Amino acid sequence: MAARLHGLGTTIFAEMSALAVSTGSINLGQGFPDTDGPASMLEAAIAAIRSGEHNQYPPGIGIGALRHAVANHQSRFYGLDVDADSEVLVTAGATEAIAAALLALVEPGDEVIALEPYYDSYAACIAMAGGRRVPITLCAPDFRLDLDALRAAVTSRTKVLLINTPHNPTGTVLTRDELAAVAELACERDLLVITDEVYEHLTYDGAPHLPLATFPGMRERTVTISSAGKTFAVTGWKIGWVCATPDLVAAVRTAKQFLTYVSGGPFQPAVAEALRLGDDYYLGLRASLLAKRDLLCAGLASLGLDVFAPQGTYFVTTDVRPLGYSDGVEFCRMLPARCGVVAIPHEVFYDDKTAGRPLVRWAFCKQDEVLSEAVERLRAGLARS
Ligand code: PMP
Ligand code: GLN
Repeated sequence: MAARLHGLGTTIFAEMSALAVSTGSINLGQGFPDTDGPASMLEAAIAAIRSGEHNQYPPGIGIGALRHAVANHQSRFYGLDVDADSEVLVTAGATEAIAAALLALVEPGDEVIALEPYYDSYAACIAMAGGRRVPITLCAPDFRLDLDALRAAVTSRTKVLLINTPHNPTGTVLTRDELAAVAELACERDLLVITDEVYEHLTYDGAPHLPLATFPGMRERTVTISSAGKTFAVTGWKIGWVCATPDLVAAVRTAKQFLTYVSGGPFQPAVAEALRLGDDYYLGLRASLLAKRDLLCAGLASLGLDVFAPQGTYFVTTDVRPLGYSDGVEFCRMLPARCGVVAIPHEVFYDDKTAGRPLVRWAFCKQDEVLSEAVERLRAGLARS
């Protein structure tokens, strides 16, 4: 194996989902919903397959209907004016968009600043691009962005700020002031920004999702990434997209065309339809996940865990030390056999292992009775010594 892949190992999601299956555990690890997305979208995919019109390679940049729906979505929710023909690129999920953007924009030796804990593909893709990862740690209990640390981390080798809001795994939603400071820094130091906004519609307590591309000076230097997986409960469809200037889209497309070229033919028209659903769909999604957040947070708190309720995403972070554990990895490896529940240790998302060691992430995108059953299994299992 090439040196640049050393240390990447197996993703924690594969390890923990396999453990959930082999132990018959409730899987609150890997983030995927256990109910289907909008019926009209599912029917549209079936109709697209049956029509015979979407079963071969779609155009490299994605079908027109989806690119227009993405452009329309950016205008409808954020007032962003995006040209569907030159400023949108459809990808194989946000994962490919992240990989292609980093491969397209990072020279070997360039520094990429990323918020730690970081989604695990960031570290892998920065490494595959030959870049150097520079983490800025979001620290418990509030996981806010330390703007002084961010400013201090920028050097003459910094090329890209890789931002993620709402942030996986902490649930932090960057505020207007934080984002304005990031934007100012990017402009002042002439940095490109890759912003992963896959949880854009999953925010709670009135925290607004503000795309970085809406801030002054950012439209020209920002690659915005999102996907259908979370918004429409179809993580297996892997339909994502990039919005950026024509030059940046062309760069990302150059890399993307030699990764998958295209994917998800019949899912593209279905996601185009879903993006156009009325506000009631988006409000209903948020309300449903808010109730699940509160259900799981209350349950985990009742077990004695320190709970950090998230403002966004469908993950909640806890500190396991009040239960007498100090190591989240050990805790998560013990949990399936002891309780029949799977969770994800934060530590794997950090360079600074000590910052993540006692933290564990739980997904709440599950049916209410599944969340309640998980809490009861934990209560029973943890009580047994
Ligand atoms: N970014 C973040 C922050 C994620 O949590 C995920 C996974 N759900 C992705 C990207 C990947 O998205 P996709 O499944 O669309 O590839
Ligand atoms: N994004 C999902 C999570 O954080 C999992 C994605 C994956 O399995 N790679 O749980």
